[in-house]
Amino acid sequence: MTALFPTYKRFNLSVKRASGTTVEDTEGKNYLDFGAGIGVCNLGHRHSDVQKALENQLNQYWHVSNLYHNPIQEKVADWLARHSSGDQVFFCNSGTEANEAAIKLARKATGKNKIISFQQSFHGRTFGSMAATGQEKIHTGFGPVLERFSYVPFNDIDAIKRAVDGETAAVMMEMIQGEGGIHMADFDFVQELEQVCRQHDVLLIVDEIQTGIGRTGKPFAYQHYGISPDVITSAKGLANGIPVGAMIAKKELRDVFGPGSHGATFGGNPLAMAAAEAVLNHVFQDDFLQAVTAKGELLLNRLNASIRQLPVVTSIRGKGLMIGIECNQEVSSMIGKLIEKGLLVLSAGPNIIRLLPPLIVSEKEIDTAVPLLRDVLAAEAVHSQ
Ligand code: PLP
Repeated sequence: MTALFPTYKRFNLSVKRASGTTVEDTEGKNYLDFGAGIGVCNLGHRHSDVQKALENQLNQYWHVSNLYHNPIQEKVADWLARHSSGDQVFFCNSGTEANEAAIKLARKATGKNKIISFQQSFHGRTFGSMAATGQEKIHTGFGPVLERFSYVPFNDIDAIKRAVDGETAAVMMEMIQGEGGIHMADFDFVQELEQVCRQHDVLLIVDEIQTGIGRTGKPFAYQHYGISPDVITSAKGLANGIPVGAMIAKKELRDVFGPGSHGATFGGNPLAMAAAEAVLNHVFQDDFLQAVTAKGELLLNRLNASIRQLPVVTSIRGKGLMIGIECNQEVSSMIGKLIEKGLLVLSAGPNIIRLLPPLIVSEKEIDTAVPLLRDVLAAEAVHSQ
């Protein structure tokens, strides 16, 4: 028996090492990684610049606390502020912590306490971000969920208008619902939502934990929508696998979190910051982001050409290198078969295969992955007839 809590349903693969887009198991078998550690290793595993930055930082210092200045935090905060609508950054260690910070900031800044989020959203598993998550299964068994959270249908502006009132502090949203099934926000909905928030003095919080750091071909996915969120949360790809989280907010909110009002012992850890600086130095470059867009279009086109017509596939959708293949049946056995064939992919809900390849994936690797997907999905289609 294992000494671990059985919190994860694990596939039969034990990792030995990983490099670039390749994961090697303990038996010496190689896998092409189209999951990137759930959208984390955006520059691939052990990217040489990130590794160098980490090795360099290992030789400087690992942790001294936030009681003293940390120049790398300043640099990473500056990168994030320059490439977003925000100006001030708070660092923490994970996505859920970044969302916790955003919820606390919104309540304290506005003096109001209702938070509206969306059905099928996912914002994390601590009490605040779990409460913001619009999925019953995430709440089940944990007693009363934090009060004053409500969930409206995604892309329904009338539902938002009905839900917002004088006690609403914030609306929190993902631009593409990741865990909820790769559902993309509509352009007009997002534009109108921003107006509603402005009219009612409600903060707009955009959760970019999965969609940010270049995943959709922009630094942050909201930048496809021409809006200016008050708060943006980030984690996953920010340090390419070293735990980190960040909340980025407009300068008007700066003094809401004064000394002593919020904090995290490990927040802005020097190793995470060194990795993040190396990541942003690559990802927040126009040519890199253009390549992500081009590769995303290529992957989507290849998928549409080779698997869209299969009976098992009901829809293929996504933006940049965040793509969902919706099927008319559960996908977990297909994912197992893909692993056997040497391709690692993810699910998003029971019926959707989710592809989040490292952003450095090559055209050749896309051309390797698509036929593997076709083989497994085509066999499934025959199987289910
Ligand atoms: N928000 C979104 C959109 C996510 O996709 C996730 C994780 O999948 C989280 C929040 C929670 O992040 P973490 O697991 O780092 O707490």
